[in-house]
Order: sequence, then structure tokens, then C-alpha cells
Amino acid sequence: MTLCDRLRRGLPPPFGVIDMHGHVGRYAYPIADLASEGLLRVLRRAGIETILCSHMQCMSADADWGNAQVLECLRQGEGRLRGYAAVFPSDPQTVHASVSGWIRAGFIGIKLHDANQFRYDDPAYEPAYRLANEHRLPVLMHCWGRPAQFAAAVRTARAYPDLTVILAHGGSANPEGYAQAAQAAPNILIDTCLSRSPLGMIEFLVARAGPERIVFGSDGYFYSITQQLGKIMGAELPDSVKRLILRDNALRVLGRVRAGGVEAPAPPAEEPPKTTDAPGPSDDSHPVPARKRWSTRGVRTPGP
Ligand SMILES: [Zn+2]
Repeated sequence: MTLCDRLRRGLPPPFGVIDMHGHVGRYAYPIADLASEGLLRVLRRAGIETILCSHMQCMSADADWGNAQVLECLRQGEGRLRGYAAVFPSDPQTVHASVSGWIRAGFIGIKLHDANQFRYDDPAYEPAYRLANEHRLPVLMHCWGRPAQFAAAVRTARAYPDLTVILAHGGSANPEGYAQAAQAAPNILIDTCLSRSPLGMIEFLVARAGPERIVFGSDGYFYSITQQLGKIMGAELPDSVKRLILRDNALRVLGRVRAGGVEAPAPPAEEPPKTTDAPGPSDDSHPVPARKRWSTRGVRTPGP
């Protein structure tokens, strides 16, 4: 049975889907079910094996508060939930202390959103990029087709070749800009989350950026995970390409990650990393416990 046939029957893909763009937490308008259990029910039904989540506060200066909330969700996530640490570019030392702390806590990626009015090549982000490069993390950048977003993303990807930049909301605006940005550096991918579903957009992105440069992102809870999955399963593409988008390309990215080992000690949620006492540059070499490769086994609460 093809993926499109399965879609028509309401069946999930026959393989575990990796969702590279998810969220937890409250936003400025009502979302029906904010509990981790509600999200997990949808993930099970839709065949989402793993979703990488950041908190809705990734758009604000409360990024660290949101990260602590995400950490709590990861512990309830059956191993399906993994974390992007959101970053607010207050100053380089604070950013370094924050991001290195969240990586030690088990986060396996970084989420940036320029709703905070800072460009992605703001100097205060550099410590986050250095750490992402060292740990080979994906860096998910909110984008909406603006040339300045693409330019900063390309500069970052070229300067830090071991991290992976993911341009969010592929084709939301300026689809050609997304494709050109992906062509400008090998470590730039595009995610698919967009509440609208312009006919042929997934096919366009695949044709222009390449089938190995597109990853599935739902933006759930923000968007409907099933609707976002459906537009990939129903696209006019070979099933082999749909599988790249829904699973294999993400696995390639996450397989490179040197963080988030299942034995990484997680600090108590009520004690998030302190962001005020910066450790200084010497902490760059701070050893990360359990530098294991990313595993689909997911985050577990340590201990019996
Ligand atoms: Zn999002």
C-alpha cells in the first residue's frame, strides 16, 4: 500500500516519523490541550516516533523558563519528545552559560526565533553556534521568506559547518529564497510546516533544494500534526522521497549529534541553569557527560 493509500485510509506511515519542529506550552491564543498526554496521543496515532520540541516562549526573553518547562515534558514523553533549547541573545557570556547547561541537561538542538527583534547573526548568538557546531546540533531558525533571515542563516551555516541549520516554514513566503539558501550551503535543510498547503509546494521544494534537504516539521501544537503529515503523504512524489522527508533525512541529522545521551544527568526542573553567573570562555571545554550519539531511545528519567 502506498503512503497516499494509507493516508486515504487514515493510517500512519509504516515507519516511524521524525518531526523536527514541535512545541509545548501556552501561547497567546487558546490551544485546546496543553498536556503532554494529549500530545502523546496524537503522536501515537499519527506514527510520530520522535518530535523535537521547543517552548512557545522561544519567541520571548523568557527562553530559559520555557526550556525548563520543556525539560519537564521530556520526562513525560515516553522517549518520543526531545528538546530544542531556545535562546535569547542577551549577551555572549549568558548565552554560553545557558546553552551549555541545557545541552548537559539533554537538549539536542537549538531553536531561534527572530520575533525577539534580533537577527540570527547577532554576535550574542555566537556562543550558541560554537556549542552547536561542537556538538553537531540542529539549529532550527524560524523563517518567513525574508532575505535577511536567509542571509544570516547562510552565513551561520558556512561559518559553522558541523551544525545543521533548518529553515522553518518552507515556502511560507519567497519559496525560491528557501531553495537558494539551501543550495548555498550543504548543511542547510528546510522544514515543511506551514498552516496553508499551497498545491505543489512540497514538490517544488524537493525539486529545487533536493530530496535530501527537506525534513518534516509539523509545528504542533501550533498547527495540526495530522494535517501537516497528510500533505507529505499525499504529495505527488515517490514514496522513497516521502520517506526521506518523513524520517531518513532527520535521522541523518540526528545521527551526527554528540549530545543528549540517555544517561545525561538532568537537573531538577525547578533549578534551571543559572544564566547570571557566566563561566567565561574557559568553560568552552567543559566536558559534557555521556557524549553519546543521539538515539531514538529518547530521554529517560535516570535511575530505576
Ligand atoms: Zn514553530
